[in-house]
Amino acid sequence: MSNENKPPIELVKRSEPEKVILFACGNCGAVYSPGIYAISDVEKKLEHARDAAKNCQACKSGSKTRDELIEIEADFVQKKIARASKVSDLEHCFSDSGDAFYCDPVEAEEAGETGVFGARFRPYNVTIDSIIDNVISEHHDEADVDDLVDLDELIKAVNIFNAKQTKGSYEMDDKVWQKIPQARTFAMIKPDATRRGIEDQMKADIVEAGFQIVSEDRRVLSREEAEWLYSEHKEKGHFNDLVDYTVSGEVVLMLIEGKGDNVPADFRAFMGPTDKSQAAPHTLRAKYALSLRENSIHGSDSPRAAIDEIVYFVER
Ligand code: GDP
Repeated sequence: MSNENKPPIELVKRSEPEKVILFACGNCGAVYSPGIYAISDVEKKLEHARDAAKNCQACKSGSKTRDELIEIEADFVQKKIARASKVSDLEHCFSDSGDAFYCDPVEAEEAGETGVFGARFRPYNVTIDSIIDNVISEHHDEADVDDLVDLDELIKAVNIFNAKQTKGSYEMDDKVWQKIPQARTFAMIKPDATRRGIEDQMKADIVEAGFQIVSEDRRVLSREEAEWLYSEHKEKGHFNDLVDYTVSGEVVLMLIEGKGDNVPADFRAFMGPTDKSQAAPHTLRAKYALSLRENSIHGSDSPRAAIDEIVYFVER
């Protein structure tokens, strides 16, 4: 969020467009009232309120709420709102990195995101109660709401102001973690298995476990492809041996579909852990792996990896 001061927002009376009623901070929307409904010396008070909104205390004190807000460029927000208004059940969200905004999780999924945070649009709205409190407590300790002149006009003006607000912030609710349903994953039958001619047996197990093999490609990987697949092991001692093994024979590259919302995790569970000695008996690795390295099957280890590997091996 930018810390730069934005000019105060002026709330004006609709019936008298030139008459300023309140000022709100352009950054955080905190309201500063000139208190013109209960006092004299209006011009001076207006100036005072404008200055207060310009040098907003709420912003200066770095209030927590501000830190939790993510502000998006106004024209970007306008476009998003225009599109979002067509969606009946609004569920705005940010990508898990927090730097991309979507009108709903489906849009995020289409853009290749694997996880989003729920977000709520917060226009710079003001509440009449806070204004009244402000007017009374800041300016007239002994005054009461009944002492306010033109209260109905003030309420109307605030409602009109609120209804017109399209600028604002998006508030991330990091408790609402929405996983985009990930119905597909990438898997690969490794060279130790194709060498033994057991891939049909493995594929039958995969299908029997409720997965669908959408497409498959049996071939030898290039060194570059194997290095890409295992790039996170680059620094490890077994990296070269792992690449040598991966290109040592044919593999079967498979696009896998499942029924749940997180098929990469479901397939990993069915595949079993890297080390077959830790694997439950029904898993592919328990049944077929030969060793820690020659463990017969690869499966993407996260929804993000699944998307990357599908794009790299299946959709290229
Ligand atoms: P996976 O996601 O369960 O396949 O496991 P990793 O991503 O940690 O490792 C990738 C592959 O590297 C494994 O499937 C094994 O074939 C191999 N591997 C992992 N750890 C070791 C190790 O300590 N020694 C050897 N030789 N190979 C390993």
